[in-house]
Amino acid sequence: MKHPLLAIALGSLVFLSACDKAEQTFTQDEIKTAETLRDNALNENVAYELLESLTTEIGPRMVGSENEKRSIAWAIDKFETLGFDKVYTEPVTVPRWLRGKAEASIISPYPQPMHITSLGHSVGTPDGGIEAEVIHFATLDDLKNAPEGAADGKIVFISNRMERAQNGSGYGKAVPARSTGAVEAAKKGAIAIIIRSIGTDNHRVPHTGMMRYADDVTRIPAAALSNPDADVMERQFERGKPVTVALNMENSFDGEFITQNVIGEITGSETPEEIVIIGGHLDSWDLGTGAIDDGAGVSITMAVGKMIADLPNAPRRTIRVIAFAAEEIGLFGGKAYMEQHRDNLDNLIIGAESDFGADRIYAFATNVREQALPAMAEIAAVLKPLGIEHTGNEAGGGPDISPLRAIGMPVANLYQDGTRYFDLHHTADDTLDKVDPEQLTQNVAAYVAFTYLMAQHQGKLSKIEATESQE
Ligand SMILES: [Zn+2]
Repeated sequence: MKHPLLAIALGSLVFLSACDKAEQTFTQDEIKTAETLRDNALNENVAYELLESLTTEIGPRMVGSENEKRSIAWAIDKFETLGFDKVYTEPVTVPRWLRGKAEASIISPYPQPMHITSLGHSVGTPDGGIEAEVIHFATLDDLKNAPEGAADGKIVFISNRMERAQNGSGYGKAVPARSTGAVEAAKKGAIAIIIRSIGTDNHRVPHTGMMRYADDVTRIPAAALSNPDADVMERQFERGKPVTVALNMENSFDGEFITQNVIGEITGSETPEEIVIIGGHLDSWDLGTGAIDDGAGVSITMAVGKMIADLPNAPRRTIRVIAFAAEEIGLFGGKAYMEQHRDNLDNLIIGAESDFGADRIYAFATNVREQALPAMAEIAAVLKPLGIEHTGNEAGGGPDISPLRAIGMPVANLYQDGTRYFDLHHTADDTLDKVDPEQLTQNVAAYVAFTYLMAQHQGKLSKIEATESQE
């Protein structure tokens, strides 16, 4: 303690060292290795090759389908081939929903066929379909505010439009029409609901996605029109004449079954019981091939694991890459994972899921205790040359990570540019050709630097405040 300033500040130093003890930052060697991994990732093709394989050899991975089963075998095989030293699965119990055909056409005033898709978990129509007058609401709130019985015997149509935004914020505003519209419509007496797709494109492909029923409300069929079809519907309403639609949907349920979270690990060299979690979800909707949602996230994080497995020395902590099951139908894989691992929460150091497509990462955020922020700033500095800004400490971690965050696990987000994500999301257009290989490698570069540094980071991250009770 020779430095005069340090001597003067002795009192506060004692305080600081007591606080900071648990959180050290990185050595020069560690930063150098992270930078090398980052730069090498930009010349690697592994993530794209994985995504090409998944979308070509498996394709759509709807929960409960044969393809989903094959995708589990695919993930096990890839983890093993890529050099993960521990590969295993954990069970996830899920309902099996079976999509049947969905057809709609305008009967009057100007007959024409419509392009629609059933929303996930929707019931079908009565045999032979239904034919009814349509009642139009611009928003879900308009429907909620309508008088009792306003939609008696009618088909509700909600035409709210999703706004395009880099961070995808338009989704949260628009999606309640999809998730809860059927319940609100049934409360007003409706016999079915059709919505404008929750998406930002003008292609004639409808967007599917989850919807929910309430126990005490009649279950009515729910479907989404492609956006151009919703435009046609609105223009027919503008003519001032009653609009009648024929709707035929044939969905069904087939009990519960057990699927699997697939997990690959690079075992840590010093504190193997401490885990850094990254991953994506392996399931997808059935309309496209699940390239951006979320083959990309699985491929990015698998490629990260491979790069770290290839280092001459394993990192201090274990890296656990999780290909979550059954995200699309209600976070079943993420919730099951949390339940199965909540007793080990103290060893789950941090988690981050990639589930927002494959376009470039533009922002890095965390959700950690204040004393860990200096270390997060050092990670942000390594990410900065990739064009990634450090945007704060209110991250959610990603959908399948959110149940763990809710009980106190620290999380991070590497935010992808979502400007065009919702043009493709949950549609037949979610295919490999939409993925830009260069932007995909930038994702791997960011994730590998983050993951490696978190696996080297000395001292535990304290748990963050739980937002859900432990019961
Ligand atoms: Zn997803």
